[in-house]
Amino acid sequence: MKFALDAVRKASALVKAVQTELVAAALTKDDRSPVTVADYAAQALIGRLLDEHFPEDPLVGEEDSTALRTPEQAEILVRIAAFVGREIPGATPESVCRWIDRGSAVSGARYWTVDPIDGTKGFVRGDQYAVALALVVDGVVQLGVLGCPNLDVDYLRSEGSAEMTGGAGTLVAAARGEGTWIAGLDGDAFTRARVSERTDPARARLLRSFETAHTNTGKIGELVEALGVTAAPVGLDSQAKYALLAAGRGDLLVRLLSSRQPDYLEKVWDQAAGSIVVEEAGGRIEDLHGSPLDFTAGRTLANNRGVLASNGHLHNAALAALADIGA
Ligand code: AMP
Ligand code: MG
Repeated sequence: MKFALDAVRKASALVKAVQTELVAAALTKDDRSPVTVADYAAQALIGRLLDEHFPEDPLVGEEDSTALRTPEQAEILVRIAAFVGREIPGATPESVCRWIDRGSAVSGARYWTVDPIDGTKGFVRGDQYAVALALVVDGVVQLGVLGCPNLDVDYLRSEGSAEMTGGAGTLVAAARGEGTWIAGLDGDAFTRARVSERTDPARARLLRSFETAHTNTGKIGELVEALGVTAAPVGLDSQAKYALLAAGRGDLLVRLLSSRQPDYLEKVWDQAAGSIVVEEAGGRIEDLHGSPLDFTAGRTLANNRGVLASNGHLHNAALAALADIGA
């Protein structure tokens, strides 16, 4: 756990630095390079730290260096190496590519999985995004850590109208059998996170992707109607959604498949850390049919379809409603 916390803390600081220094300047030019720099730099950093601490363990990461090795990307690669170099002195374009490619593993009986920036669109918009790292052993997620640099830990800890975005950001950590814990990314003390006790579907706060292309808003409307949910669903990017659910600031979370990509397979790095964060906070997470998430199928959750997560109390009602509406 110490390794995972340290790696996510460092990667979160790095991506936040890229955001502060590059995003504002780039937006005027409609330039996606900051997210490219942050994404690759964070995966390189985590690959390098894994080399140091667990050299034998495979890493299933979202990125690989193929595109970066082309001449057109040479300048970007130099910028990535400079950012990584702030944490790892002596980082070079070549070593950075090698550390990134640590993440090309297929999986294994024991593997780590990383999404260096989950919610890249949120990162670019200045909304929510997350650094997500998890350890999977024999198909069971044993630990998961989320760094959410734009998520205010005071919002998670309160029940009132505190602002969601801002502050020092949040670190969320869960280990199997040991609960889910949250702390500020500035190093404040961990406090325990628990899902809500809400049992009335009409009062459920529903969490969904901000990006309409990543979900099915029509079907979410049908689900809301079938359950009698009164509040409008909250859209936010990344596994920050799982942090909200785990801390009791949401009650239900759905990933419904877009009609444009009905065969979309969830990626392990998008679900592994978030799933244990929800479970260890007392919640429940399965796919849309109520099957357990299967982390043994390689880089995707090929044996599952979509995701339903909840505080536990609302789960069966949501599963029944999803079956009714044919989601
Ligand atoms: P979210 O922030 O909930 O929109 O989820 C972000 C993740 O959605 C990204 O990390 C992508 O891996 C994943 N994603 C990309 N395309 C799709 C899609 N068509 N349907 C569902 N998820 C997607
Ligand atoms: Mg992602």
